[in-house]
Amino acid sequence: MSEPLGLKAKLGLDVFKAYARPHILIKTGMEKDPRLKKAILVCPAGLYDENDAGEVEISIDGCLECGTCLLACGSEVLDWQYPVGGTGVQFRFG
Ligand code: SF4
Repeated sequence: MSEPLGLKAKLGLDVFKAYARPHILIKTGMEKDPRLKKAILVCPAGLYDENDAGEVEISIDGCLECGTCLLACGSEVLDWQYPVGGTGVQFRFG
């Protein structure tokens, strides 16, 4: 009997089609805002990180479009939109 797939393996099955402009941006000047640190904890795809300068960064490839980061951090620090039609995530597992 085979082992069930772990979360990273399941996410690796999804396909992500990028668009020229990321659909989530950290608003200019808000990179060190403490509200952004919640995104590091709640993003199920682990796309947020903090750099050595204490700024929060996002790597948009792999976004599941769940909206959790927007709910956690708020629209004052995040510019969040759904991707342009035909781009973004295509779910392949569940
Ligand atoms: S929408 Fe969901 S998956 Fe995408 S960056 Fe926000 S929390 Fe992560």
